[in-house]
Amino acid sequence: MNYRIGTGYDIHALVPGRPLILGGIEIPFEKGFKAHSDGDALLHAIADALLGACALGDIGKHFPDTDPAFKDADSKELLGQVNKLILEKGYKPYNVDANVIAQKPKLTPYIDAMREKIAGVLDIPIDNVSVKARTAEGMDAVGEGKAIAVQASVLVTEKTCRS
Ligand code: MG
Repeated sequence: MNYRIGTGYDIHALVPGRPLILGGIEIPFEKGFKAHSDGDALLHAIADALLGACALGDIGKHFPDTDPAFKDADSKELLGQVNKLILEKGYKPYNVDANVIAQKPKLTPYIDAMREKIAGVLDIPIDNVSVKARTAEGMDAVGEGKAIAVQASVLVTEKTCRS
């Protein structure tokens, strides 16, 4: 079986007056992401990992933040488009593992809802989607609550092997 692995990373600043959208769901918080799209750093990191696994560049290449079409874009749609791109290249996502690094808010109550959204967009079982939340132990910009960072790894397999 032909496997390929990819990694992704994203970080967005938190600012007042924006909704906090993470993993495709809105999380009650006093701040949200400063970004051109909805700023969903979790979905962006996963999208970058998928593109990386297939050597298709990164989301900045496919969805430039200078393009008005992506202003406040729903990142679930961006991730869906990335999924289509990798399917066209003959691959399918197998599993996802992500670390969301946020000092605040507490994300544990929302993890399963995020996993369900991601699994739905990628059309894979929820059991193949892992989202882990941790803090930055009060250090750096993330630890000071100024930003949320995400790391993601994905495995993709050749479509013919699983379809
Ligand atoms: Mg981003």
